[in-house]
Amino acid sequence: MIEKILNLRNCTNIEEINKLQDEVINSNNPHFMFIFLYYITKANLDLISEKILETKNYKYIHLLLSFFKLNNYSKLLNYILLNNNDSSYLFNILYDVDCIENDYRLKIINKIILIDDDYYIIKSLYYYFVVLNLYDEILFNKIKPLIKKKFSININENNYKIIFDNIIYNENSKKDPDGFSPNYHKGRKSYIPNIIVCHINNTYSSAIYHFYNKEDEVSCHYLIRRDGHIKQILPLCDSAFANGTSVNENSDVYYKLSSSNLINSVKDNANYFTFSIEHESFDGSLTNEQLKSTVKVMREIIKYLKNEFNYDFQIDRNHIIGHNEVNPIVRKNCPGDKFPFEKIIQLLKE
Ligand SMILES: [Zn+2]
Repeated sequence: MIEKILNLRNCTNIEEINKLQDEVINSNNPHFMFIFLYYITKANLDLISEKILETKNYKYIHLLLSFFKLNNYSKLLNYILLNNNDSSYLFNILYDVDCIENDYRLKIINKIILIDDDYYIIKSLYYYFVVLNLYDEILFNKIKPLIKKKFSININENNYKIIFDNIIYNENSKKDPDGFSPNYHKGRKSYIPNIIVCHINNTYSSAIYHFYNKEDEVSCHYLIRRDGHIKQILPLCDSAFANGTSVNENSDVYYKLSSSNLINSVKDNANYFTFSIEHESFDGSLTNEQLKSTVKVMREIIKYLKNEFNYDFQIDRNHIIGHNEVNPIVRKNCPGDKFPFEKIIQLLKE
């Protein structure tokens, strides 16, 4: 089915499009429906988004909300607010849905407060008040006693941003784990890796936790903290668990879904021929120290390729890309709109 959809990408014949649309809807498969909407511009958004809502599949409801301007947007959000009690899911709706109205932002934050998950409460407050730089007096008055109770800290109008910042990043002073992550594929198959993929991770401490936890099966080559501190997670000769592509066409990370020609022309897992760099950031913006460290580790990668393979890395936007270009469906906001690709390329060329 996915191949059929991709083959119809540039088709203008309405009859043919409608025929496949019926087939996709009848499949009752939210993955097929979403991919159809994503690639076929003449798809019926209202109809298909209703059908996806009917499947009650939270993952695809999330994707629908984050990719499209929907007419039934409030219907979907109300469904989530009523039925979903997963604070991580709710935070991701808050974080990923660009067009969300402030009313709904506040409803979601209030629901996360109700669920009473400390980690996501402070994360959503940080995101709202600091990253998005918004302010709501009713919410603020509600969280004042809550912050006092949970963290024994008094917040006021002058200090709240600094306080939230301190709480969310307070674990950064912990010592780094020794050695490399247990999550990797040994070697690079027969590839010379020639692409650097950039990522963001909200906090350094949670990234470290997941990269060193075997069950999470995630890793990267370098992690760069806001203060510029660099932690190497894997040696460059091994493949990370960072931005894999799959040859299974029913997968959300099917290699042909990639928007990078270099990635979607290789019928294999992209981790084998890429390097991954993670940055502590919510929106892709980097501190000056981080930017310097990113350029430094990229220079090391370029040097490694020259020494190891006598290969000259090409410094351009085709070879320095974002996770969203490898896996556009599942990683739309990694590394985020504010990630300074052009600045990095300019500094590397100096
Ligand atoms: Zn990523």
